[in-house]
Amino acid sequence: MAEVFANGPALNQDCQVPTAHDWPPWGCQFPVMAGPCSVESREQILATARALQSLPVHVLRGGVWKPRSRPGAFEGVGEPALVWLREAAMEIGRPAAVEVGHPRHVELALDHGIGFLWIGARTTANPFLMDELASALGGTDVPILVKNPVSPDLSLWLGAIERLERAGVRRLMAVHRGFSVPEPGRYRNAPLWRIALELRRHRPEIPVWCDPSHMAGRAELVPELAAISLDLLYDGWMIEVHVDPTHAKSDAAQQLTPAALASLLSTLQPRRRTPNTADVQDRIEALRHQLDELDAQILDAVAARMAIVRKIAAIQKAHGVAVFQPDRWKATLEKYRSTGHARGLPPEFLENLYELLHEEALRQKTETPPEGRS
Ligand code: PEP
Ligand code: MN
Repeated sequence: MAEVFANGPALNQDCQVPTAHDWPPWGCQFPVMAGPCSVESREQILATARALQSLPVHVLRGGVWKPRSRPGAFEGVGEPALVWLREAAMEIGRPAAVEVGHPRHVELALDHGIGFLWIGARTTANPFLMDELASALGGTDVPILVKNPVSPDLSLWLGAIERLERAGVRRLMAVHRGFSVPEPGRYRNAPLWRIALELRRHRPEIPVWCDPSHMAGRAELVPELAAISLDLLYDGWMIEVHVDPTHAKSDAAQQLTPAALASLLSTLQPRRRTPNTADVQDRIEALRHQLDELDAQILDAVAARMAIVRKIAAIQKAHGVAVFQPDRWKATLEKYRSTGHARGLPPEFLENLYELLHEEALRQKTETPPEGRS
């Protein structure tokens, strides 16, 4: 694989090339898995693969069995597509990757020489299926990428990874593809970056890749999410690319053309993990010191606020008044929005901040133990 990856960008500028291990196989390079959402025909996957050949793309992806929300949509070509995907991957000298959602898929994919497998968001969410997949994958050496579950639930994501590990799977990566939330905003799937960062806190040894395509839902939004993932020190990308996105049979709006991927990869500037000069380090440290002082003031202010909340609660209780006052709550939330907005803080953040303070204030007023909250 080494020469195939020779022209890729560095993973980060202070990366040490691993010597004793062949895993991950891309050494210091930033790994990119790219290819269509679905393998639709032999011509389509061959043309896409050929268009990617000269790019720093390390693995060719293509969905063969597509889990669709509604029946009747294009559900993938199935086994014949494995043959085409493998042929296309062989031609450009890269390993192929497919999604597996069932033990039978694992068997077929391995029989057809597919080098990487990924578990889709709908499957990660299902512990029964994950157990079955884990049994099918245990004892194989194939690298597995585990997408986050559709709902923002870190335990399900960790649980899917743990089920695979217990079955003996060792080459694991997590893929962050965003979450389904009740009120979608700019993106098809809300990034909720903190959940992926939490995953990394729990399991720092597991590489976390970003799938900006399924997060974005629209091709023009893919580069901005890809850039954020670099700032957050993600370890790789999975990106959907199609030779003719407008005619794609699935996820047409979010697939990049090979030219758009080339342009994204040409701007790929992996970040340094640590500053490269003492001067930069000193400037950051001085600002961090200011942050620490402000954090201490914030905590003092929050503690003082809670003390006043408890005094109010004592008066309310002594006089039989409800501790929750909806009008006051609404008025304070509004004040947070407007005064915070005037200070350049986004409304959504201010709402979350106030909700958090208010929830704790109510807990203190009613003296609910923290573990008693849902
Ligand atoms: C895919 O990668 O094409 C796919 C179906 O992804 P997800 O499971 O993230 O929806
Ligand atoms: Mn897709």
